[in-house]
Amino acid sequence: MFEKNELMYEGKGKKIFSVKDRDDLVWMQFKDDLTAFNAEKKGSFEGKGKLNCQIATLIFNYLNRFQIPNHFVETISDVDMVSKKVEIIPLEVIVRNWLAGSTAKKFQREEGERLETPLQEFFYKDDGLGDPFINDEQALYLKAASSMEELQQLKLMAREINGYLFKLFDEAGLKLIDFKLEFGRDSSGKILLADEITPDSCRLWDKETDEKFDKDRFRRDLGDVDKGYAGVFDRLKKVTGE
Ligand code: UDP
Repeated sequence: MFEKNELMYEGKGKKIFSVKDRDDLVWMQFKDDLTAFNAEKKGSFEGKGKLNCQIATLIFNYLNRFQIPNHFVETISDVDMVSKKVEIIPLEVIVRNWLAGSTAKKFQREEGERLETPLQEFFYKDDGLGDPFINDEQALYLKAASSMEELQQLKLMAREINGYLFKLFDEAGLKLIDFKLEFGRDSSGKILLADEITPDSCRLWDKETDEKFDKDRFRRDLGDVDKGYAGVFDRLKKVTGE
């Protein structure tokens, strides 16, 4: 049994606690809060923490089938998950299968354009700077990654994860438009997939109608945010049998 200790950090979607007598673990509590645009827009809905915890659990279990190194240990309640403690690499690793969001805006293209080759992008995790887009050399300059080899490894892992998740969501009738990953180093320096994969961090559109099931429902005031998240969980449950 794990015992929750003091609050170490409160993020936008989760609270992180230490775990009694376990320096190697952290306790993540999923919150009902929703934020967008660098926390300028705030909201919440009841049951969001539970849905995200369930979706993240299902996805970590799925990725474990393919031996993707990750920080997941165990889900211990509707909203609580225990994970391996890692030193977070301050990069948001974005993968895009269809054009949307910031990249569509940057190139003034329509959202929904299928990308022949998935795009990979790094954003530097720094709220004060507004999480800027950076290239590989800038990531090294900022010491976000320790070497070009480490950056290559992040790209390789992100590409592999994209392959598995694309297929999973496709079977669930959803297009994995784009998503954000975070990675961390464990005490031995090994790189693990960390944080969460949920509709907060992915764009998911219905395969037939392009209806949005993700946080864009909140960002763009489309309504029924709760139904979107619940729909993602229901569809994933059906295809994984969990
Ligand atoms: N994303 C995220 N956290 C961030 C920024 C982006 O989870 O701080 C996710 C976002 O939900 C989308 C993908 O990463 O699935 C690409 O986001 P984009 O760069 O298009 O930025 P946005 O348009 O969301 O500002």
